[in-house]
Amino acid sequence: AAKEQGRSRCVRYTADMDLRAIEYAQLGAELRRAVGSGELFLMYQPVVTLPAGEVSAVEALVRWRHPERGLVPPAEFVPVAERNGTIVQLGAWVLREACRQMAAWQRTYGDAAPSRVGVNVSARQLREPGFAQTVADVLRETGLRPEDLLVEITETAVFDGGPALEAVHALRDLGVSVALDDFGTGHSSLGLLRTCPVDVLKVDKSFVDGVTGTIEQAAIATSLAHIAQALRLRAVAEGVETAAQARRLYQLGYRLAQGFHFARPLSPEDVGSRLSARVERGQESDSWDPPAL
Ligand code: C2E
Ligand code: MG
Ligand code: MG
Ligand code: MG
Repeated sequence: AAKEQGRSRCVRYTADMDLRAIEYAQLGAELRRAVGSGELFLMYQPVVTLPAGEVSAVEALVRWRHPERGLVPPAEFVPVAERNGTIVQLGAWVLREACRQMAAWQRTYGDAAPSRVGVNVSARQLREPGFAQTVADVLRETGLRPEDLLVEITETAVFDGGPALEAVHALRDLGVSVALDDFGTGHSSLGLLRTCPVDVLKVDKSFVDGVTGTIEQAAIATSLAHIAQALRLRAVAEGVETAAQARRLYQLGYRLAQGFHFARPLSPEDVGSRLSARVERGQESDSWDPPAL
């Protein structure tokens, strides 16, 4: 009976696998169509200064409004796009659109515009020959200054060196800023800081979650603040959800933060109306966000 059960479980597992594979392939094919069809769009989440809560930068986050499936989150379709290679076209679209939008905000709102736009770039894109050239082309076409673009990569993308690491050097040569995203969750986080030249560490939400807990729970976020300081890197605390976390992060030395406590990802229209309000007020008081501390 046990054998029987084992076998049926095995069969069911295989059927699930097939279903998932079909679903995967279908989603992949639909993605290929979605790029350039107007179904993809970007939301922008503010990165704010501590303790003032002023907007320092925005991060572009891709969304897919699927005609039947509705809003599909990137956690579901980015891995599919990475598998079937669509990420190269999708990522190029995200990069161009984010740079175009940022340059437009800078023209319209001047000093009140965020100073940087963060764009997530996956390992597959980074390894693609000519990626740095694509970035250079996009900057030239959109008129965005290289230093106003922050390319966000993961440790996993660059830990084994190779073309991805070369691409990071090429980006730096262009004057583009680079961040290690979800820092601390990948491979060889600390060793990487010696070989991969970056400007920003985005400290993963999983470490931020613990900052108001015990010393042990806060230990990694605390250490990463020290490491960033020692290496003269900027540290951004990701996924800040409460005022208490913001206060504690400030005490630990964090000067930049991102999270639902300050702002959720916003439509470009919402960013625009907040920027107009900021221009009208002048820049002394910034009520874009709730006071941080
Ligand atoms: P990420 O780059 O680490 O982006 C931050 C994610 O955390 C976003 O999720 C954001 O909405 C979410 N977040 C921000 N603050 C909070 C908070 O306080 N609490 C919680 N629970 N979540 C918060 P999103 O937009 O669903 O994106 C998920 C991931 O998908 C991103 O993580 C990034 O790795 C990837 N992604 C998004 N857009 C792109 C893209 O254009 N290209 C690539 N390659 N990947 C992308
Ligand atoms: Mg990111
Ligand atoms: Mg992140
Ligand atoms: Mg993250």
